[in-house]
Amino acid sequence: METAEIARRFLAFFENNGHTVVPSASLVAEDPTLLLVNAGMVPFKPYFLGQRTPPFDRATSAQKCVRTKDIEEVGKTARHASFFQMLGNFSFGDYFKEQAIPLAWRLLTSSVADGGFGFDPERLWVTVYLDDDEAEAIWRDTVGVPPERIQRRGMEDNFWSMGVPGPCGPCSEIYFDRGPAYGAEGGPIADENRYLEVWNLVFMQYERGPGESKTDFEILGDLPKKNIDTGMGLERMAAILQGVENIYETDTLGRILRRAAELTGTVYGDDDRADVSLRVVADHMRTATMLVSDGVRPGNEKRGYVLRRILRRSVRNLRLLSGDDKLYLHDLTDTAIEAMGEMYAELRTGADAIHSVIDAEERNFADTLRSGTALFNRAAEKTRATGGTTVSGADAFQLHDTYGFPIDLTLEMAAEQGLRVDEDTFRSLMAEQRETAKRDAKAKKLGNADISVYARLLDGSGATDFLGYTDHESEARVL
Ligand code: ATP
Ligand code: MG
Ligand code: MG
Ligand code: MG
Repeated sequence: METAEIARRFLAFFENNGHTVVPSASLVAEDPTLLLVNAGMVPFKPYFLGQRTPPFDRATSAQKCVRTKDIEEVGKTARHASFFQMLGNFSFGDYFKEQAIPLAWRLLTSSVADGGFGFDPERLWVTVYLDDDEAEAIWRDTVGVPPERIQRRGMEDNFWSMGVPGPCGPCSEIYFDRGPAYGAEGGPIADENRYLEVWNLVFMQYERGPGESKTDFEILGDLPKKNIDTGMGLERMAAILQGVENIYETDTLGRILRRAAELTGTVYGDDDRADVSLRVVADHMRTATMLVSDGVRPGNEKRGYVLRRILRRSVRNLRLLSGDDKLYLHDLTDTAIEAMGEMYAELRTGADAIHSVIDAEERNFADTLRSGTALFNRAAEKTRATGGTTVSGADAFQLHDTYGFPIDLTLEMAAEQGLRVDEDTFRSLMAEQRETAKRDAKAKKLGNADISVYARLLDGSGATDFLGYTDHESEARVL
């Protein structure tokens, strides 16, 4: 079943069950606390928080999401994409667990002829939160899942919360057993590679109070109106329903992957390292295309840095694959637009604009790499010549200062040669440079002419080249 068809079926099922179909919001979140939309519920947050009255009691959507914290997982696990689509059904004070659970089960297990996904019930496992006896009873007694396929999980995995005070509540997740070839028995608590998480049902029922952390806080009481928020991974469903090994081999991502292999003269499946690179390229080129289409532009901060980082990772992986420094991004952007164009018509109409942004960034990075790589190789040589394994912080700083090499690039290049980088020294040099820039700016302010406006600009933008990099980087990383 094609990806587009899976989305259509999901939305049609919930529409037939009284839900209003709401189009995906832009990846660029309206919500100021988030850089990019990372879950289907984000556009509905004001309704859940009671800040706005929803125009409907029930909604369903296929929301574009980017999770920057999953970037490092891409290509290594079978199930993490940096851009993915979350299918969801939502109840705003309308139905609760007793309906959400059977609805989810029906959609998954009804036959394809009946509009469902035709899953074999024997291959589905579920988890509930530690003390959520209610949810367990619904799974066991109403739906008929045998108790041995229902597992309990703690705060870390099965409890959701948002803001203080804000709604919170237990979750229940549905997993598909891919079979003994993918790992040991024992259900999702034993192995999340064999048991693939496909759907998370969140039961918002309590009001969250203050607390120490995401897993340790007070519960103030019941919410006046209980809500449902669910998220199903479209790419994960596609992997299962298309019978492929991982999400990168599905119809959409697989197309970009195959094109990347073709362009770089590699054969997918021949070499583990090259396979990871191909999966990274497929994923990142799709994410970049979607981000640019939603108005994100490469930059040194925030969203712009997320985009820059994934484009740079694409270029680096393409060079590793091909062994040359040709420009491949234009061609791969075309493939990404083709692969996603059926679901997102704006990619086709906006193709020229998307290309010009990505092409320019690729040329810009090619220049940076050309000059920086030579310097990096000298630093690596020097390290090895003295019998060391750690590239000095001063060299990393110079790469950054002179060539605009972000530290993660230096770290990656070092790792490829079996070396490490003295990050502590690098960071203290960065901090020192920032202090100096601040002092200089202040001194200028004290001069005769009133140039304070420039000083402010300098302070705010980190204008002396890449002053702001490390901060922004860690910001992008912790997202
Ligand atoms: P995992 O534990 O596998 O990382 P998660 O628990 O972080 O997933 P949720 O936050 O519960 O995921 O999101 C709801 C659903 O969205 C998941 O059940 C999954 O199907 C899908 N999903 C989450 N993260 C990704 C991702 N990086 N790529 C593709 N699909 C994802
Ligand atoms: Mg996750
Ligand atoms: Mg999970
Ligand atoms: Mg989950």
